[in-house]
Amino acid sequence: MNGCIFCRIAGGQVPANIIARDDDVIAIEDLNPQAPSHTLVLPVAHYATIVDLTRAEPALAARLMTVASQLGSERGGERGFRLVVNTGEYGGQTVDHVHVHVLAGRRMSWPPG
Ligand code: 5GP
Ligand code: ZN
Repeated sequence: MNGCIFCRIAGGQVPANIIARDDDVIAIEDLNPQAPSHTLVLPVAHYATIVDLTRAEPALAARLMTVASQLGSERGGERGFRLVVNTGEYGGQTVDHVHVHVLAGRRMSWPPG
């Protein structure tokens, strides 16, 4: 989608530190990390939110979580990690191309802000 920063990253028009990619899913380092390891897992195709994605392509949504879970296990090890999918205005979503945050490398607090 024109003007979407994550579509531009997935399309190679904007640089990013790419950790892994295949035809459907891409994992990148977050530009503004909130943990020692902070990565984002997103579909190459544009879906605005997790709601849109699960409605249209449930298998792709499952794959996103599988990749995020594998990455979290690699980065967080036995100590664990956190997956976050901010959704919509009240959910704190700032980039309207669905993505899973994978946070690892420190103890997380709860509740979130
Ligand atoms: P959200 O607020 O939508 O849940 O998360 C968006 C995330 O994307 C933020 O953590 C932000 O740091 C990250 N981000 C925004 N623009 C870019 C960019 O151009 N490149 C990368 N790698 N991350 C970005
Ligand atoms: Zn997009």
